[in-house]
Amino acid sequence: MVRKPMYFDHSATTPVDPEVLEKMIPYFSADFGNPSSVHRYGQRAEAALSHARAEIAEVLGCQPQEIVFTANGTESDNIALRGAALYARQARGATHILISPTEHEAVHKTAHDLQSTLGFEIEMLPVDRYGSVAPEDVQSRLRDTTAVVSVMYANNEVGTVNPIPDLASIIRERGIPFHADAVQAATYLDLDVNRLSVDLLALSAHKFYGPKGVGVLYVRGGTPLHPLLTGGNQEFGLRPGTENIPLAVGCAHALSLARADRQTESARVTALRDRIIETVLTRVPGSTLTGHPNERLPNHASFVFEAVDGNQLLAALDLEGFACSSGSACKTGDPEPSRVLEALGIHGSLAMSSLRVTIGRGTDTCHVDMFLDRLPKLIARLRSVPEAV
Ligand SMILES: *Cc1c(COP(=O)(O)O)cnc(C)c1O
Repeated sequence: MVRKPMYFDHSATTPVDPEVLEKMIPYFSADFGNPSSVHRYGQRAEAALSHARAEIAEVLGCQPQEIVFTANGTESDNIALRGAALYARQARGATHILISPTEHEAVHKTAHDLQSTLGFEIEMLPVDRYGSVAPEDVQSRLRDTTAVVSVMYANNEVGTVNPIPDLASIIRERGIPFHADAVQAATYLDLDVNRLSVDLLALSAHKFYGPKGVGVLYVRGGTPLHPLLTGGNQEFGLRPGTENIPLAVGCAHALSLARADRQTESARVTALRDRIIETVLTRVPGSTLTGHPNERLPNHASFVFEAVDGNQLLAALDLEGFACSSGSACKTGDPEPSRVLEALGIHGSLAMSSLRVTIGRGTDTCHVDMFLDRLPKLIARLRSVPEAV
């Protein structure tokens, strides 16, 4: 029998916590009501939804009416960016959008779509070799016509954590809405929206041991957004359509659980992460850490390797029972180098050799040691085989 592959791809998605699943089940069956209904079925659904909203607001340190349930992180990013941009253009003729070059596609492509179809102008912030955005670079690029600024909290490919409070204070001083994609940050980092000082914040439940198909957008009171969808008044008119109660309940419970053991779990995975980084850098010749050495996600290790094909490495690791990633959305066979690595100054074949190892609740020292034993040997073997054409 083949043993279960070890899962080192928690930045792609996480398994649903069994307790979260348990909480969701009644809302698929007995408690199936529509929260808009007046009768008791409706009331029970409405109560569950309100409870879920309040539970999330509690973690974010905000008001429940500032929480919008969405379909996923991508939708949260879209509602935030498009909503703020369209409103700003209508209200004050603002058409300048400032984003970092390491944003997830959900922000990057959305900004580009606003540019190509609606005439907005995108400006890319500079980043250092780790992918961090500096406050002074934001400061010098803000214009009176800036519609919205979007900088991610933590990067999915290279794990770098941006100094969100420092960026936010500069942007908010100018009265410009600031959106942060916090999808990767949610499990491990502080989500208090007042300490972060953001106007808009995106989360996705499946990245913090909740179900797929549900996200959250935090919208600070007084941050007007042009709605992308029209219909009923659900989710304050920003996300009309009958609410998905089981997913909202699951999302909220998963976030509470993540917050409850954030400190202990962060400390635990940080030690494992550092063991991975240190061992790989010492035992694999020609290896480089990508992303920030310290200001990075506690569960995230990412590398590039000289003279190694990243896709071959992933396939070889999979055969050995290790589920890892290249870090980018590139599928096997896609020859495009990662846009994020290019922004960090990593080009050509080196940018095609990336490996992302993202650990999580199910990862223990034993798994990490098995991985660290195999990886250097696999890389040596791949390097010794002449390039297959
Ligand atoms: C996964 C991810 C998203 C998209 O979230 P989905 O729920 O999969 O749509 C957005 N931003 C970042 C940083 C992510 O890692």
